[in-house]
Amino acid sequence: MARASPDAKACIFCDIAAHRIPAYIVYEDAEAVAFLDLFPFTRGHLLVVPKHHVARLTELPPAEYAPYVRALATMCRRVDRLTRDYNVSSNQGAAAGQIVFHLHFHVIPRYGEANPFHTAPRERLSEEDARTLVATLSAP
Ligand code: 5GP
Ligand code: ZN
Repeated sequence: MARASPDAKACIFCDIAAHRIPAYIVYEDAEAVAFLDLFPFTRGHLLVVPKHHVARLTELPPAEYAPYVRALATMCRRVDRLTRDYNVSSNQGAAAGQIVFHLHFHVIPRYGEANPFHTAPRERLSEEDARTLVATLSAP
């Protein structure tokens, strides 16, 4: 069931989920909707969105994880009809590239493009930073 929130008033993905504006919807259930990205990286690039308006994953109530991931996995299975290889990704926050502040996962089919998403050279993880990060991220 779609739940409104103050932010939802001006949200393009809420408008799509509520069928107020057009989109190429390819999946819908009570909790989630999936539709084709209007500016696809590749053919079949789609977005999977919870109907509940939240900006990011950490704002989604845990009880809503399962139906959302189920919808995401359903769409991954359907993308197998195009190609077995795809990226599943979600930008969380402006510095991470999020431009629509309604939670969504991208499913981006890959057909053999060179080096998808690995454009910047990467340095090997240092022992010192690894220890700091493990301390920060392993605490519950
Ligand atoms: P973000 O950068 O926030 O992770 O991705 C937002 C995505 O939404 C972009 O890939 C963009 O092309 C897509 N998008 C933006 N506006 C619309 C729209 O009105 N309709 C559809 N179908 N996709 C949109
Ligand atoms: Zn929204």
